[in-house]
Amino acid sequence: MATIYHDADADLTVLSGETVAVLGYGNQGRSQALNLRDSGVDVVVGNIRDPAHEAAQADDFTVLPIADACALASVVMLLIPDEVMPEVYTAQVAPHLGAGDLISFASGYNVAFGMIEPAADLDVVLVAPRMIGVGVRDAYVDSRGFPAFVGVHQDPTGNACARMLALCKGIGATRGGCIEMSMHDEASLDLFTEQGFGPAWGRVMMSAVELLVGAGYPPEAVLVELYLSGELAYSLEKIREVGMTRQMDFHSHTSQYGSITRGARYLGLDAALKEKMGAVLEEIRSGAFAKEWSEQQEQAAALFEKIRAVRDELPFTKWESAARKAFRIGDAAE
Ligand code: NDP
Repeated sequence: MATIYHDADADLTVLSGETVAVLGYGNQGRSQALNLRDSGVDVVVGNIRDPAHEAAQADDFTVLPIADACALASVVMLLIPDEVMPEVYTAQVAPHLGAGDLISFASGYNVAFGMIEPAADLDVVLVAPRMIGVGVRDAYVDSRGFPAFVGVHQDPTGNACARMLALCKGIGATRGGCIEMSMHDEASLDLFTEQGFGPAWGRVMMSAVELLVGAGYPPEAVLVELYLSGELAYSLEKIREVGMTRQMDFHSHTSQYGSITRGARYLGLDAALKEKMGAVLEEIRSGAFAKEWSEQQEQAAALFEKIRAVRDELPFTKWESAARKAFRIGDAAE
């Protein structure tokens, strides 16, 4: 059984007398800094001089250069983008940490795949919300929780777990539940969702669109039927609330009979799907993906630009724009 921590397992007073430096004031940084401060934790923000720096000042935080924030604090939360983290860690963070300081990662990626190797005298923990940054703040303000993946990677002080749980309580994660795991498992699950589950699910969606449009149904109607109406998003929310099998009760008898009897026909695809997903998982777990991505950093911007240009010219993108406009959905609503 997995270990899952809640509010009762965490004690905020463990952080009494400690200063927490939140590095980065972006999606996660802003929300976590505000939540920690509202929980009574002493917080400073470390950031480069940019609009995020001004945002942190406007929120009444003391904002310091990253190196100065690290020198001042005994707990450092690294909430900068994963791809710049190794360089920033080596040049501006590591030289200013002392024995017994704690460093917290919101993603296990860099430690799991060897891009960052913290000194042995540091407490090293994982506090990885399973929630986008704005959701971390909204949940806290509404007194709701959200799940997080957490773990102790190094514990020279013997106090790393208590400090980690205090941080989790401070950001509001223990209200939901914090499940214990290694940095490697957290990073692998995260990458698998992005590379295994997401694209496979996207392929199912595209196959259905191509089939139905090819069969002569208007593209706008197909997209509204499949997901643009919001019915799919609503059903996913119900799956979250009551479970995959029990949400069936919300659908008509025709729907239930049809999906059960026809659903069995797709069982034959499982083996091929699992073979492809398994290969993706193996690349992730072995570190081959992380190595490839490190080597591709310089070409990435050009690649993304090329993909955006192609994407914008796809018939599918045009069908989506037309349908969103016709049905006044999202930013096409105005
Ligand atoms: P953001 O992209 O929102 O940026 C974080 C901050 O880092 C910003 O203030 C940004 O400034 C600053 N920054 C950018 N480049 C540098 C640099 N070279 N040196 C110093 N600071 C820099 O990051 P996220 O909040 O999305 O991600 C932070 C961490 O949280 C990552 O480890 C991520 O994996 C993890 N995480 C993110 C989730 C999410 O939903 N976004 C969910 C769970 C975990 P500027 O705005 O000027 O670029």
